[in-house]
Amino acid sequence: MEALFDSHVHFSGGDTPGYTMQEQLDRAKERGVQQLVAVGGSCDLNASAFKAAERAPQHIQAAIGFDRDQDAEMASAAAMRDATERLARVVGSAGDLGVRVCAIGEIGLDYHYTPETRERQMDLFDAQCALAVELGLPVIVHSRDADADTLAVLRRYAKGGATSLQGVLHCFTRDLAFAEELIELDFYISFSGIVTFRNADALRDVARQLPADHLLVETDAPYLAPVPHRGRRNEPAFVAEVVQKLAEVRAVSFDEMARVTTANAQRLFRFPVS
Ligand SMILES: [Zn+2]
Repeated sequence: MEALFDSHVHFSGGDTPGYTMQEQLDRAKERGVQQLVAVGGSCDLNASAFKAAERAPQHIQAAIGFDRDQDAEMASAAAMRDATERLARVVGSAGDLGVRVCAIGEIGLDYHYTPETRERQMDLFDAQCALAVELGLPVIVHSRDADADTLAVLRRYAKGGATSLQGVLHCFTRDLAFAEELIELDFYISFSGIVTFRNADALRDVARQLPADHLLVETDAPYLAPVPHRGRRNEPAFVAEVVQKLAEVRAVSFDEMARVTTANAQRLFRFPVS
């Protein structure tokens, strides 16, 4: 069985029966999911990402950061940047804790509900991209109704800009032009369970056309369970359904799709190659 890599998991929700971290990881392993990034974005999510990454650094590493609107209202960009830096440095230097921070994230812009916080969100996003450069880490980026601003910030730091920040646009749902601009910046495009949804033909069309060496897969668990698990709580095991759909769309085998997306994620996040 080819190893699968879920590039985006949130272990929120604590120890719901049937969904403890261990139960989810066991089911993931049964489906071949060998490695994953436990993703933060708030104080709570950062803490649960660390907790997951403590278990098995060969298999799970943490992304930490402060995410867009809800937190942009809480504190200044500078304060949140400092908080992220402290977390990354403490954990990064404490090798005996056995935890590795492999990315800053998720971070980014979301104007869907709070367009009025645009400036604060941009400040926070920019500050955390700058921090990622300083720490030599990639970023995991969320962008909703904010394509132009997302590109504007990334262009300052990514390939062709002042530095060569790398990262991934997670849970991609936009058009081919946006994806191509990101790939031009040497960013990766990550597809979630949305690519399996019945009404997602346009997205599948984008997924068909992108270069294989810039594709990642994710669940974004606990949200967005793929077909045929819709309506249930999502979990890392279900990344197999995303790989299966991408394989179908791109007319390659499941194993080939698994191999490529796992290798891409291992390269971007500098995971041990199994
Ligand atoms: Zn997420």
